[in-house]
Amino acid sequence: MKAARFYDRGDIRIEDIPEPTAAPGEALIKAAWCGICGTDLHERLDGPIFCPPRGHPQPASGEESPVPLGHEFFGVVEALCVGVDDLAVGDHVVLEPYIISEKVDTTQGNKSYHLAKDMNFIGLAGRGRWTGRKDRRQAAVDPQHLSGHATR
Ligand SMILES: [Zn+2]
Repeated sequence: MKAARFYDRGDIRIEDIPEPTAAPGEALIKAAWCGICGTDLHERLDGPIFCPPRGHPQPASGEESPVPLGHEFFGVVEALCVGVDDLAVGDHVVLEPYIISEKVDTTQGNKSYHLAKDMNFIGLAGRGRWTGRKDRRQAAVDPQHLSGHATR
């Protein structure tokens, strides 16, 4: 599959990468659309900011540059792995693209999980191959966050 990968400031390459697979607890999502936002532009012009430099893997994802870009996207569930029972193949989903350590409580009771140490984003710090965790909270909508903040 094709991916735009961040190597370093000013160095984004369109490359072929292996097709992704879903690990236990994950869903494989076929992207229908992916936006490019100001964060992506800042990574290209001023980065690395969120993208982990080569030799410095992001703690939660374990990945380092080059990383596939694209953190504002939606798509269709293409496959499910063991441990995912609240989604179905064919579901249309939008992700809250957080990468958070497995040690962080992301249940409804923790209202500050998004402030966890080493939090980062799918499509900036790894996992940008269109797999997503089954957590319902990660099915929230980034554009909703933006419009919610804009109206406050
Ligand atoms: Zn963005």
